[in-house]
This record gives sequence, structure tokens and C-alpha cells, in this order.
Amino acid sequence: MIARATQKQFEQQLTGNPRICNDREVKREILKGIVDTEKRSIFANLSCWFVTAVAACFLPTAAYFIFPLVFRLIAMVGTRTAFARMRAALRDERPVAREYRWLVASLVIGGAGWGATMVPVLAFPTLHPARLLVGGGTLVGMSIVVTMLSPVRTLATAFVIGFLGAFCAGLLITGASESLALMTGMTILFLIFIAYSHASTFGHERSAQLLVENRRLGDSLRTSLERAMYMADHDSLTGLLNRRAFFGHAKQAEWTRRLVVMIDIDHFKRINDRFGHAMGDLVLERVGPAIKGVLDRHMGPDHIAARLGGEEFAVMFPYRSIGEHLRTTEALHRRIAAIGKELNVDGLVTTASLGVVVTDRLQTLDEALHDADTALYRAKALGRNRTEYAVAAEEESAAIRHG
Ligand code: GH3
Ligand code: MG
Ligand code: MG
Repeated sequence: MIARATQKQFEQQLTGNPRICNDREVKREILKGIVDTEKRSIFANLSCWFVTAVAACFLPTAAYFIFPLVFRLIAMVGTRTAFARMRAALRDERPVAREYRWLVASLVIGGAGWGATMVPVLAFPTLHPARLLVGGGTLVGMSIVVTMLSPVRTLATAFVIGFLGAFCAGLLITGASESLALMTGMTILFLIFIAYSHASTFGHERSAQLLVENRRLGDSLRTSLERAMYMADHDSLTGLLNRRAFFGHAKQAEWTRRLVVMIDIDHFKRINDRFGHAMGDLVLERVGPAIKGVLDRHMGPDHIAARLGGEEFAVMFPYRSIGEHLRTTEALHRRIAAIGKELNVDGLVTTASLGVVVTDRLQTLDEALHDADTALYRAKALGRNRTEYAVAAEEESAAIRHG
């Protein structure tokens, strides 16, 4: 349920007071609607000015229209600039407090331009059809502008105040007869304009609210989907890929010759038994980023790292050179062993055994993992905290062992 903000809140929302405004985005959206309409109204605005100027030329009182029309043209440039600044601030997602003040001020002057044009029409009455064009055109133009500004009451009011101010001042300066009646009549007319246009405000607000709600819903759906996709592929404890994703990624890997390394934490059950399951979890939590860090450093983005289950991990990366892979496995040993020291718990030892196989595309992943696993068991049997190489890569293993 969307609460409708009061007009006062609305103004504060526009100027970016987050304590009061709980739906600032909606209000900015309404303002965007107004500035976009204004952008497209330039041709109509200029045409209206031009028709008024041409019609005024036919009147015997044409000279009285020169000042108002020049004033209106200058005011038009002012409001246009203020709208352009507001448009830019909204587009760049900047606060609009300053632009908003400028816009209000420029609309007062803009309204005054229209009001000044109306003065000679009523102060110097002539029986000429062009007078109807100038007067009627000005009123119609004003009502269109007020309707455009009506979703933000301050803007519409600023424009009307400018109009009535200049109109009343003009009548007083020119000493027009019946000026009080004209002022009262014009004020009532514009109160009706404003009242009518505000009736449409709710529609504008509702559309903006729906737009913002849809956008938020889209954003939240996108985030949820990304999160669900991440969780489907990753192990929540270590942040590495899970078993299923490891097989998926490994099958897609294009490396013709690669290394598959099985990593198993040594005596992990003892860690659980001696320091508690929570400490075991903490160790696993650290092992994931530790493995990832080593591979990032040594292999760059070319690697796949996963937690296959329990305290068993598997990594895969392209074959490069014996020396490089030796450095990588040694770094894995060092880094995993460092976790025990980092956790600073007396007697906590976090070593790991590694089983390595060098494989090509002819060997299936299951076969490679099986060979790596066999090598891993040999590493366990030979005393743990060491790397053993699969028989399938005997030459490689021998070469590595002998440096
Ligand atoms: P080895 O050196 O031979 O690998 O001995 P180990 O104790 O590491 O291996 P073993 O397979 O006997 O025990 C693995 C233990 O890991 C048993 C299981 O309770 C524990 N474990 C498996 N998954 C988790 C987990 O998510 N969190 C914790 N804390 N323990 C786990
Ligand atoms: Mg183990
Ligand atoms: Mg195990």
C-alpha cells in the first residue's frame, strides 16, 4: 500500500530530505515527467509566441505589445535553461534542491512574461479580431502550462503567481479602467485552472508510483535470480563451486592438457573432535578462499576450484610447465597449513594431502578424478601433508619429483 505524501512532504522529498521522504524516487519520477513534457513543448511554446506577435501587429495598440513580448521571450529562455539544468540533475541522479529553487524562480518570471502579454489586451480594448487571438491564445497557453506543472503544486503556483503579479501590476501602471474587476476575474479564473489541474495530480502520482514499483520489483527479481543462480552453483561454506558445478565447468573447459588436483584436509575428524564442529566449519570456511587465492595468484582466471563434499576439494587448471605446477601445489600446502596458525588455536594443525593427475581430453573427468583420488590415498598412506602423482602421469610425476 502506497501512502500519499502531503504536498509539504512532497516538496521536501524533491529537495532530498530522506528523513521525511519515504518515496523520493516517485517524486523524482513525477518531476522527470514534467521536464520531459517541457522538452517536447518548445515548438508549441515558440509557435504560440509567434502567433501572438503576428496577431498583435494587426492591432492599433501594437506598440504596447513590444515590451511584453520581448520580456516573454527572455523569460522563455530562462525557464528553458532552468528546465535543462533540472533534466541534467535528474538524469545524473544528483540531488535537485538547487535546480528546484532555480526552476521555481524562473517559473515566476515565465508566468510574469505571459501576464505582461495579457495587460495590453485588456487595458487597451479594441474591437479587432486579432485581440481575441492574442487574449484567447494567452489564456489557452497559460492553462496548458499550468496543467503541465500541476503534478508539482509549487511549480504551478509559482507560474500563476508570476502571471497574476505581472498582470495586476501592469493594469495598475497603465491605469486601466475596471482594473479591480479584471484582477478579481483573472484571479478567480486561475484558481479554477489550478483546482481543475490538481484534480489530475493523483493520476500522475499513481502512474509514477506504478513505474517505480515495477522498476523496484524488476530489480529485486533480478537480484533474487542472480542470488539463486549463484547459490545453485556454489558451496555456501567455502564460496567455491559445488560438486555439480565443478563437473559442469570442467566439461566446458577447453584446455587440451590439464591438471586435476584432489585436496583433502588431514585428520579433519580430529579437528572436529578436539575443537568442536564450529571450529571445523571455520577451518573449511578459510580453506575455500585460501585455495582460490593461490590459484588466482598462480593461474590467473584459468582454473576451476570446488568443494566436492566434507573436507575434500578438487581443482583443475591448464597444464603449463612442471616448475609452475610444483610451485602451485607447494603454495597450496603452505597456504592451507597457515590457516591453523592464523586461527591462533593451540594445537590446531591444518595440513592437507594432495593427489595430482595430468590428463588430456581423451581421459574422462571421472577417470581423472579416480586417478587423482588414488594418488591422494597414497599421499595419506605415506604420512599426509604431501603431494602424490597419479600413475597415469608417471613420466610427469617422476619428472616433477626429480625437479
Ligand atoms: P584423513 O587425514 O585420512 O583425511 O582423515 P580425516 O579425519 O580428515 O577424514 P575422515 O573422512 O575420517 O573424516 C572427515 C570428517 O569431516 C568427518 C566429518 O564429520 C567431517 N566433516 C564433513 N563435512 C563437514 C563439515 O561441513 N563441517 C565439519 N565441521 N566437519 C565436516
Ligand atoms: Mg581428511
Ligand atoms: Mg576425506
